[in-house]
Amino acid sequence: MSHEFDAYDIDELRRRVRGEVHGPGDPGYPSVGFNPAVDRSPAAVVDVLDADDIAATVRFAAAHGMTVGVFATGHGGTGLGARSILVRTAALDTCVVDAAQRTARVGAGVVWQTVIDAAAPLGLAPLCGSSPTVGVIGYLSGGGIGPLVSTFGSSVDHVRALTVVTGDGAVRTATPQENPELFWGLRGGKATLGIITEAVIGLPAISDIYGGAVYFDGADAAVVIRAWRDWAALLPDEASTSVALLNLPQLPTVPPMLAGRLSVAVRYASVADAEAAAAVFAPIRAVATPLLDAVGVMPYAAIGAIHADPPGPMPVRERGGLLTALSDAAVDILVDAVTPPVGQLLPVVEIRALGGAYAKEPAVRSALCHRDAPFNLNIVGLLVDEDAAQSVTAVVDATLGALAPWSAGAMLPNFAASDDPELIRTCYDADTAAWLAALGDQFDPHGVYRTGQVVRS
Ligand SMILES: Cc1cc2nc3c(=O)[nH]c(=O)nc-3n(C[C@H](O)[C@H](O)[C@H](O)COP(=O)(O)OP(=O)(O)OC[C@H]3O[C@@H](n4cnc5c(N)ncnc54)[C@H](O)[C@@H]3O)c2cc1C
Repeated sequence: MSHEFDAYDIDELRRRVRGEVHGPGDPGYPSVGFNPAVDRSPAAVVDVLDADDIAATVRFAAAHGMTVGVFATGHGGTGLGARSILVRTAALDTCVVDAAQRTARVGAGVVWQTVIDAAAPLGLAPLCGSSPTVGVIGYLSGGGIGPLVSTFGSSVDHVRALTVVTGDGAVRTATPQENPELFWGLRGGKATLGIITEAVIGLPAISDIYGGAVYFDGADAAVVIRAWRDWAALLPDEASTSVALLNLPQLPTVPPMLAGRLSVAVRYASVADAEAAAAVFAPIRAVATPLLDAVGVMPYAAIGAIHADPPGPMPVRERGGLLTALSDAAVDILVDAVTPPVGQLLPVVEIRALGGAYAKEPAVRSALCHRDAPFNLNIVGLLVDEDAAQSVTAVVDATLGALAPWSAGAMLPNFAASDDPELIRTCYDADTAAWLAALGDQFDPHGVYRTGQVVRS
């Protein structure tokens, strides 16, 4: 059944759920998230209070021939149109740490810093991503590569249990023993198999790390990145690293020596003791004269300082992909791309070194693919206006085209926010994509979740 969704339908939806429902024109509509460039104009937004609210929304959507998308913070995600209902998870704010089990039970509305702060007094640490304001569940649905990725592997390898509302409106638990196929596919398959309401995640015992970033002048960028590449290849598993070309604006929050110029940051995080970790990092400090050296012993709770990602909204277009190698020529292409004036529209171009624990077969397999790629490239383009959007698209596409010889032809789901099925397919090997699509058909027979970044046949 499909007709134009109207105020009567919104009232009907209001009667089915406990959370607030917002229609177009209501103050709680639409959802402006981290990336205002993403256009979300759903038929309605539901601020769900629990799994039952999601189940009711899913059943309502199925009856009306509509789809359902999910929103936590807006750090990823795709556009959403008038035949969709958007489930907003902010109210699912459970965050309970079990010190004895070394786990945290985390709701779908929780961001990483909340878990970090709850775990820190107990000497425990969640394996978060670079930005503490990213949603825990959205991040885990795409696998997750954080500042300690080579040391602990993907964050999703540390998930113990998930609760999910599948497309048939059922609330299910997924663990390695219970619904193991869901447990496999929910970890890497984004929202293909359902909206996760809660996760139980393992917390390693970490209080302090040796880490941070050392920043060099843009003029040294090529030399620094080549040295970083060679050094990163020999890094022990206790340490993880990434490098970023930065065009940071002149803002009070940006250190003056980095503002309004091109710089290059080498990020480092090590769980070795401080002396050993500093010795491993010493060659990087000697590559060129740093503009700023902010690497040292730090509380894990300050881990967001390593990447210093922007905490607030930014209209951006992000593209990139996994690289098989980082040749000298590839480095030159990236440095050319970020060089002002056009390069100023690219505030961040980063390469994360993978490998180490990440490249090893995890204890429990997931739908996260392409673990053998040594580098992940992410180019962030700033969409300040229409002209900038065109320039950003042109420079990003040209840069990725020039890097084709070193492209793995693959992406990580967390860096592939798109509803383009071809692009989404690059996140998975053929078997994984086929299994995800088959499980999608099984658990979502009405295609309620067929919107956004999902894998369906
Ligand atoms: C500044 C910044 C830093 C980042 N750093 C990292 C990083 O270090 N490592 C990394 O791997 N990724 C990183 N990312 C990518 C990030 O992990 C993804 O964009 C992730 O999807 C964000 O989740 P969210 O819930 O915060 O965002 P949202 O935009 O609210 O959600 C994005 C998508 O996540 C999925 N999702 C969200 N909630 C649920 C749910 N309850 N159930 C099922 N699926 C759900 C859906 O597909 C949804 O469309 C970063 C992104 C940004 C913008």
